[in-house]
Amino acid sequence: MTGSLQTQIAERLTQVRQTLPDSVKLIAVTKQVSVEALRAAYAAGVRDFGESRIQETADKQAQLTDLPDITWHLIGHLQSNKAAKALELFQWIHSVDSLKLAQRLNQIAADLPQKPTLCLQVKVLSDPTKYGWTIPELLNDLPALDQCTDLNTVGLMAIPPYGLESSETLAVFTRTRDLAAQIRQDGATIKHLKMQELSMGMSDDYLLAVEAGATMIRLGRTLFGDRP
Ligand SMILES: *Cc1c(COP(=O)(O)O)cnc(C)c1O
Repeated sequence: MTGSLQTQIAERLTQVRQTLPDSVKLIAVTKQVSVEALRAAYAAGVRDFGESRIQETADKQAQLTDLPDITWHLIGHLQSNKAAKALELFQWIHSVDSLKLAQRLNQIAADLPQKPTLCLQVKVLSDPTKYGWTIPELLNDLPALDQCTDLNTVGLMAIPPYGLESSETLAVFTRTRDLAAQIRQDGATIKHLKMQELSMGMSDDYLLAVEAGATMIRLGRTLFGDRP
């Protein structure tokens, strides 16, 4: 690892952390980022890493067996037929985006020693380029999701559509926060699902997300530079 890469990533992390309340968890998104850069972030104290692909994560983990205390977060779309592999590689899945996927994960998790931790991906504004539940769809599926008791479902994940004004992006994050609060209050249907985590905010909008109450932000380019 070059000294300058180490220094640059450590400096970027310091800058970002200065803008964050201590309660916000920073997830370093290392998709398409080298193992060397990932190690630099680890050396600077990062223990939460986000990836969007199964194979890329498996390849990286094989090169990082000396770093056992990493928490791996899946942040990309997961096909049901890769659910078992995902549960081997990741402790968190932020991108659970359908009832079918949740039920498949629940089935596999029944045989695991530890429940996987999940967020439900919600689309506050319609966005054909993204996966996830619209709000009416999610409300409709909540009773069935609540039955998935081998999953530790802790909150919501949101990605605003591209090209919004800041005020519109903030409104998406605020709506997501309010939706989590609404679900928390629905004790009649919701016995098992928890809604205390809000995974929202990327390089271009994380300050707005934090303003709206994000508990986890997912940063790639701000830490590692532009992806190839
Ligand atoms: C790539 C990605 C990120 C990180 O994006 P940056 O703009 O590089 O910070 C965060 N969340 C998801 C779901 C992503 O796919």
